[in-house]
Amino acid sequence: MFKIALPDGSVREMPEGSTPADVAAAIGPGLAKAALAAKVDGEVRDIMRPFEGDSSLALITSRDEKDALELVRHDFAHILAEAVQNLFPGTQITFGPATDDGFYYDFAPTAERGQFTDEDLPAIEAEMRRVIAADKPLVREVWDRAKVRQFFIDHGETFKAEWVMELPEGEPITMYKTGHGEADWMDLCRGPHLASTGKVDPNAFKLTRVSGAYWRGDPKNPMLSRIYGTAWLNKKQLDEHLVRLEEAAKRDHRKIGQEMDLFHLQAEAHGSVFWHPNGYIIWRQLEAYMRRRLDAAGYEEVKTPQLMDARQWERSGHWGKYRENMFIVPDEIPHGSDDEGEDEAPILSGDADLMALKPMNCPAHILIFNQGIKSYRDLPLRLAEFGCCHRNEPHGALHGIMRVRQFTQDDAHIFVREDQLVEEVVAFCDLLDSVYRDLGFDRYAIKLALRPDKRFGTDEMWDWSEQSLRDAVAAAGRNTEEFGWEELPGEGAFYAPKLEFHLSDAIGRTWQVGTIQTDTVLPERLDASYIGEDGAKHRPIMLHRAIIGTFERFLGILIEHHAGKFPLWLAPVQAVVTTIVSDADDYAREVAAKLAQRGIRVDTDLRNEKINYKVREHSLKKVPLLLVVGKREAEEGTVALRRLGSEERQLVMTVDEAISMIVEESIAPDLKR
Ligand SMILES: [Zn+2]
Ligand SMILES: [Zn+2]
Repeated sequence: MFKIALPDGSVREMPEGSTPADVAAAIGPGLAKAALAAKVDGEVRDIMRPFEGDSSLALITSRDEKDALELVRHDFAHILAEAVQNLFPGTQITFGPATDDGFYYDFAPTAERGQFTDEDLPAIEAEMRRVIAADKPLVREVWDRAKVRQFFIDHGETFKAEWVMELPEGEPITMYKTGHGEADWMDLCRGPHLASTGKVDPNAFKLTRVSGAYWRGDPKNPMLSRIYGTAWLNKKQLDEHLVRLEEAAKRDHRKIGQEMDLFHLQAEAHGSVFWHPNGYIIWRQLEAYMRRRLDAAGYEEVKTPQLMDARQWERSGHWGKYRENMFIVPDEIPHGSDDEGEDEAPILSGDADLMALKPMNCPAHILIFNQGIKSYRDLPLRLAEFGCCHRNEPHGALHGIMRVRQFTQDDAHIFVREDQLVEEVVAFCDLLDSVYRDLGFDRYAIKLALRPDKRFGTDEMWDWSEQSLRDAVAAAGRNTEEFGWEELPGEGAFYAPKLEFHLSDAIGRTWQVGTIQTDTVLPERLDASYIGEDGAKHRPIMLHRAIIGTFERFLGILIEHHAGKFPLWLAPVQAVVTTIVSDADDYAREVAAKLAQRGIRVDTDLRNEKINYKVREHSLKKVPLLLVVGKREAEEGTVALRRLGSEERQLVMTVDEAISMIVEESIAPDLKR
């Protein structure tokens, strides 16, 4: 008999060969029906997989949403692959993981068939529903590598046969079989899966699109067809998600960026943003705001070199670990041509060392710290930089201004003594909270990413740093459900644990933007030290921290969060004075000049167009305030004020009233306090 410990503390004796499903059945028929999979000694497993000894067991039901979703999505990927092979015999399978909102599977269609298209999706969906309705058991089998390879060769699956040979020899490999009795379909898979295809809700998924993807992500390899789907636990969740997608498409920062003339991107500068005047106004407002907040919080702003040579990147460890993401530039003037058109040798400056554009600001800040002797009294030292960094990422990974190759961080490094760490992290949490609220986000989650398996440093160091971050969040009063407090085992950086701050936007999406992490490795590598009260040398702890992350991505999030309807202090054009009749042109100019004099970003629209046409156009450009003037307003010294998106009738007031109201409203939130 095996002893199976349950979450409520009770222990059940189960005969050898029994499974978590048997335990569920012994507890009651309700649970037997609801149980989707099992957590055995902390590992998610098939509910039909027999226990191997005394174990702890927690049954997973749809109430364990995170685990349940991942299982269901993986099942859908298998169902998709089976459906595609049923409909299109000869199609080869490759990989099909779960994603954040569903799943995908990469297929190699036959040459005659060609790549799949969106037109194929309805038929594939219908076939998937047939596979689900057949309620086929998903059975785990353990094979050896040679047998798996032969199986795939026999079935014409060359991609799978290639892949399996890269798995370590001698280790058992799991295959998942779908079918009653004989296998209808089979895939090499680590699992786990639900007990049968009928366990997923046939109305809780939708195939969304097809795209090309190279075998193993390498452009030298064959192009595959990647079919994406979104999948949920039930139809209600799916419907909510589809509404969210629709809403997200309306808010897409690339679309709004064009409508409001904020920025553009073009192939000549892949992954770098061309900010237009309107977009750069928002950037400048945000930067000025962040600078005021940092100044007030005791940070000192610095500016460090864009290019540093290889020696520096070797010392910091980036040359070894991070080189493939760095843009590398030789320190030479390439070549000139003489009169005969022959190339001359490069003109060397210095030793023609290799230089790299900085991918991060951290090493340079330590170099500033290292200038002169620091004493314990100099700490904490907070060095901030709106640092422009470059990271080389594949073109396919780029997305609008959200994922770019040139970006500017609201970066800072705080050098602290051990006894200052908690206090400093508390202060950071408070500052970040206030910044997010000022910028229109009132919900965010705090997560603590704990030590990964592969890491630097001693266990004592990790124990201490993790506990310090935990203590700090508790001291800031934010280790609560309201703040989505959660610990994420294994997700820390290799040198340190970190706090992550995940913003929730207006349509419920989350974005990780803020972070703070403790680091003792880099100060060690670059030999940063201070003289302690005891007169001896000590290493400072370095805190890497950002609140908005990068300007580019954060502005993308801001655009989508507000759907372009920025609060007045951020809006690129705050007001437009527009006329009903041309008689009022001079008056409109006069009103605009008065507003401009008070620092309001104002335009006039004196075109001879119908007022409704003008109103529509400015509302598409998301201008917050329209001041409409006609003959009567000119005579009476008034304006008729219309707010963007407001159903209220326009408000008539005197020019002076309007100006003081607009000026008051356009003050940044930190300056109002
Ligand atoms: Zn699988
Ligand atoms: Zn850093």
